[in-house]
Amino acid sequence: MKKNKTVYIVHAVDTEGPLYESTKATFKRIEELFNIKFKIKNKKKLKELFKGKGIPKKISKKKFFSAINPHLLTYNKNWNEIKKMINQINDKKFRNKLPDSNGKNWKFSWHCVDHIGYKFNPRRRSVGYHKIFDFYNNIIKKRKNLGDKVHFHFHPMTTYKEAHRNSKSYFNSSHLYEVIARRIIDRNWFPTSFRAGFHIERPDINLFLEQFIPYDLSNTSINSKKNKIDNSSNAEGWDWRRATKKWEIYNPDHDDYQLKGACRRYIGRVLSIKNRTESINLPEVMKAFKQANKGVKTLMAVTSHDFRNIATEVDEVRNFIVKAKKKYPNVKFNYVDTSEGFRNTINFKMNKKPKLKLGIKRINKNSFKILTKNGEVFGPQPFLAIKFKNGRYMSDNLDFGLNKKIWYYTLNEDTVLLKDIKVLAVGAADKFGNYDVCRYFFN
Ligand SMILES: [Zn+2]
Repeated sequence: MKKNKTVYIVHAVDTEGPLYESTKATFKRIEELFNIKFKIKNKKKLKELFKGKGIPKKISKKKFFSAINPHLLTYNKNWNEIKKMINQINDKKFRNKLPDSNGKNWKFSWHCVDHIGYKFNPRRRSVGYHKIFDFYNNIIKKRKNLGDKVHFHFHPMTTYKEAHRNSKSYFNSSHLYEVIARRIIDRNWFPTSFRAGFHIERPDINLFLEQFIPYDLSNTSINSKKNKIDNSSNAEGWDWRRATKKWEIYNPDHDDYQLKGACRRYIGRVLSIKNRTESINLPEVMKAFKQANKGVKTLMAVTSHDFRNIATEVDEVRNFIVKAKKKYPNVKFNYVDTSEGFRNTINFKMNKKPKLKLGIKRINKNSFKILTKNGEVFGPQPFLAIKFKNGRYMSDNLDFGLNKKIWYYTLNEDTVLLKDIKVLAVGAADKFGNYDVCRYFFN
């Protein structure tokens, strides 16, 4: 049999809407990053720094420029600037500059976040449910031929409810449940592919995903580690030091998401583009093509932000691909979205499998049977979403039936009262990256 030598290329964008950073805030960030202090903090000084003037002696220029440069500091500050960039990258010519081995154009997976519940928002992030999801979903609907998809991205709530900080606990982040409940009820949608905010995972995040979302593109393990001063700062924030540095997909361990183990969910490797850390380079692309050349189906994923100039980043990756293709002419490369990338690389044969189909049956005034009519739910239960008549949304655990295809939910004083409920719905993914949503509307 002829070996399938294919690299599946995924561009997963952490889609967060516009971002504004004042000059003062930029300086504060540089100071925090390099543990230094500047006396003058204005635009002129920043321009000088870009030119290499006035960089404190203790920091190497190379290190400084990897964090502080015009590409990283030029943000799309408002939706108009985002629209402008989208027009640029949705241009047919741009998408088709380097067609893949099937003659298809470059694709984006828009992993959309919802900015919710922040008290301080100095970067002027667009706060509100579905704000970013709707913006990109509308574009995708208009430009179906491009093959882009929306997926999921999540930022845990920060200690002081500051929109420009990051954190690492989903147990502290009840808005996670509310965002998904609203996606199910308001948008008839459920996530199949995920990108961790700031690449950060911890045990509670691992276990949340293990229940609901099959594909996770967050392993940013690369040899050039953060190189910080001590192990506590190396362990802080995102940490994939123990994870595979190969372009491979793995099932994580129950206790350590970085190790291979017996979890049912899948983690893929992804690198940033032209970023301060964990960035893709020519050797990494060569590595992907070399692996595929041996007949190993390979997922090579890159990630960026929609508040930066994505066009420059795509061009950078395309240049690497051209070079790798030259060295490995027998390797094919295909642009796919995140879920397709996982599915193809894991080698799931889709056509033989029945698509997931959920159902809700009212068995008496207050009790509901939730069932899988077709296919199989990815985790132990579908995600339950409830909308109250007063506009509140929540999720809850289901009650479990005697086989893996049946669950129940009963409205009562311990759950939700019949007089208060407006919608009862469930959403779930299957392991093939399909999803289904079923909604029951009350009068
Ligand atoms: Zn993010």
